[in-house]
Amino acid sequence: AAPKGEPGVYDVLKAASEYYRQQLKTAPAAINYLKGRGLEGRTAARFGLGYAPGSSGHGLKKVFEDYDWNKLLTEAGLVGEDEESHRRYDRFRDRVIFPILNQRGSVIGFGGRIIGDGKPKYLNSPETPVFQKGNELYGLSQARTAIRDNGRVLVVEGYMDVVMLAQHGVEYAVATLGTACTPVHVQKLLKLADEVVFCFDGDKAGRKAAWRALENSLEYLVDGKRLAFLFLPEEHDPDSYVQQFGRERFEQVLTQDAVPLAQFLLRELAAQVELESEEGRARLVHLAKPLMSKVTAPAYGLMIRKRLAELCRLELSELDPILSGRN
Ligand code: ATP
Ligand code: MN
Ligand code: MN
Ligand code: MN
Repeated sequence: AAPKGEPGVYDVLKAASEYYRQQLKTAPAAINYLKGRGLEGRTAARFGLGYAPGSSGHGLKKVFEDYDWNKLLTEAGLVGEDEESHRRYDRFRDRVIFPILNQRGSVIGFGGRIIGDGKPKYLNSPETPVFQKGNELYGLSQARTAIRDNGRVLVVEGYMDVVMLAQHGVEYAVATLGTACTPVHVQKLLKLADEVVFCFDGDKAGRKAAWRALENSLEYLVDGKRLAFLFLPEEHDPDSYVQQFGRERFEQVLTQDAVPLAQFLLRELAAQVELESEEGRARLVHLAKPLMSKVTAPAYGLMIRKRLAELCRLELSELDPILSGRN
């Protein structure tokens, strides 16, 4: 039902989310797809999963016609307009819907997954006044208590990673929304817990995403907080891993095999040079310099520079002026 008073963009998003949730109940193809992926009904309920019906592309429009919410549907990113025909159509059609909530628990956008194969695999809400991808973390609203209780937040890439981890009892995971982990994300994450572990997919894209997260973290490192990276086997993402090996094994590797940020940084740089040669070690200093200049955490920075000096076979007193010099 339409809310009393003047409805706003949050109202239309909430109503749409309820509409999608209802639609899932009578969508056997979507239900079977989710069941086939191992998802249980109560997990779907916990994350408010839904289904956007397909054929007409006018499902939402019809539902909301009575309320004259058309302008709001556009503002909320739920309805688009064809540039040529100026016909309006639902953005999400024949997709499983993941509502995205903000910290207060209000719906601010959606992710929609195609059922089975096809492109694009995921469709997200566009940027709107209430939804900025680079600021939001999927699943945070549901993960909040577990993050506090565990003192740890796990950062993954995908909706299904968050959802399936939670189903298996790893309830402190959140996902970036198909974007790199931004500086705003990093600042939010560091406020949430003393330990932040990034666990992206084992594929090439996941490894690249890990490096981007490292680059965006350096500036915000704090002595006393722990940032680490868990690298999964090439063919896995957190969803597939936890389904195959279970919670206990996942949390065991999380604790034992996650690589601390400093170690990841030095390992990646060292792999790019020939440490046995003078040129190689000079190049290592050159590569490290722009990254080290971002680190302001005093102890953390010192530890990394000491280790870097060892790798370059220099004294710290020799290395430091180079790192802080202008050339
Ligand atoms: P699934 O397990 O459902 O196949 P996934 O989460 O493992 O999906 P990935 O290909 O690993 O999918 O992508 C990770 C995340 O990146 C997705 O969850 C989604 O948020 C985002 N993403 C993937 N493909 C697209 C796309 N074509 N457009 C926008 N975002 C995308
Ligand atoms: Mn991937
Ligand atoms: Mn996956
Ligand atoms: Mn994946």
